[in-house]
Amino acid sequence: MTITSGQPTTGQADDIASGGVASGEVGLAWLAGAARDRAAAGLHREPHVRRVGADAINLGSNDYLGLSTHPDVVAGARAAAAQWGGGSTASRLVVGTTQAHVDLETELADFLGFPAALVFSSGYLANVGAVTALAGRGAGSRASGPDDSGDLIVSDTGSHASLIDGCRLSRARVVVVDRGDHEGVRAALAERTEERALVVTDSVYSIDGEPAPVADLYAAARAHGAVLLVDEAHAVGVRGPGGRGLVAEQGLSGAPDLVVTTVLSKSFGSQGGVVLGPEILRSHLIDCARPFIFDTGLNPAAVGAARAALRVLRSDPALPDRLRGNARRLARACGAEEPAAAVISIIVGDPQRAVDAAAACRDRGVLVGCFRPPSVPPGTSRLRITVRADLDAATLDHVAEVVDAALREVGAR
Ligand code: PMP
Repeated sequence: MTITSGQPTTGQADDIASGGVASGEVGLAWLAGAARDRAAAGLHREPHVRRVGADAINLGSNDYLGLSTHPDVVAGARAAAAQWGGGSTASRLVVGTTQAHVDLETELADFLGFPAALVFSSGYLANVGAVTALAGRGAGSRASGPDDSGDLIVSDTGSHASLIDGCRLSRARVVVVDRGDHEGVRAALAERTEERALVVTDSVYSIDGEPAPVADLYAAARAHGAVLLVDEAHAVGVRGPGGRGLVAEQGLSGAPDLVVTTVLSKSFGSQGGVVLGPEILRSHLIDCARPFIFDTGLNPAAVGAARAALRVLRSDPALPDRLRGNARRLARACGAEEPAAAVISIIVGDPQRAVDAAAACRDRGVLVGCFRPPSVPPGTSRLRITVRADLDAATLDHVAEVVDAALREVGAR
């Protein structure tokens, strides 16, 4: 990072107190230079503010099934807030667990085919909590192995930031293989000196919706006495029987040494994260997962919304099929490859051009995602379009025309 302003001066009293650097000279002054560098590289970000009455067609969200605005889901949130209040008021272990939290966990475990589930206040924290509770650096860590040699985590280049941050915080040894390289995973597991190992992967990669070789990864993990943790954030509600995800599609629900994490902030149209596995895992996470122990429990309204969304999904198991049908139609109309899930990724390359293309879509009333480094590798900035089950054919065809016009306008087509 380049510091372009606020160089320290000498000879002031403050120098002595701050060890030679004049206080007030550096401080936050370096942020201006850093901001200029990011802007020059096309990497400055401004959140788009959605406003009441400004009814753009939203294909930038992760609300795959359109459930965030489903009347039953909104009513579920309202009812839970009316019953339990606007917040859960404390961490789960103090008084932040309501009957609704426990019911949601039972219902999610039942739906996804695992003995037990534990809900966190976000998917991000569910991943950080699960990874750090299952792998550590050895001596002194809560998740230390019996021989105190520390653990190995094998991750891949497609892992979501929350898995990556979990790996970093765990202080275990981390090996990163190419996305989907299950032979590389096998080799890393075979060569390890650590007794315990954890393999982490997204099941559907969040950036482009491609599926990971989950069955091969599970076989590799099992062959080498490792645990496989699969993040199903972009697969639940999208793939598998009735939207039960890629793990269910592969016949692996409830399999031994398999941990599934997923989120309530995508297909469920709510908020929150969940970790699924055997009862002993749930109990271990309650004792050892710091994001569970120290974070205020999931908001009751989010719990109510998620429970209602699960009921909608159970009563309409064809919803995910409609979503994938819409994704295929839109991809075809946009000239993109047939998607394996509900994400259509159109690579533009240059970050500023991707920003301009997304802005050109917005000017035409269509919101799409724009992903730039560090979310994607340099040179692969893109429009990320997430389809919804509740859009009709005419809307999808209109969106395709808008995307095409926007890409032409910025010279990306
Ligand atoms: N995992 C994946 C694969 C995700 O895409 C996301 C959300 N972007 C998360 C975890 C984090 O979930 P949440 O937004 O609920 O924190």
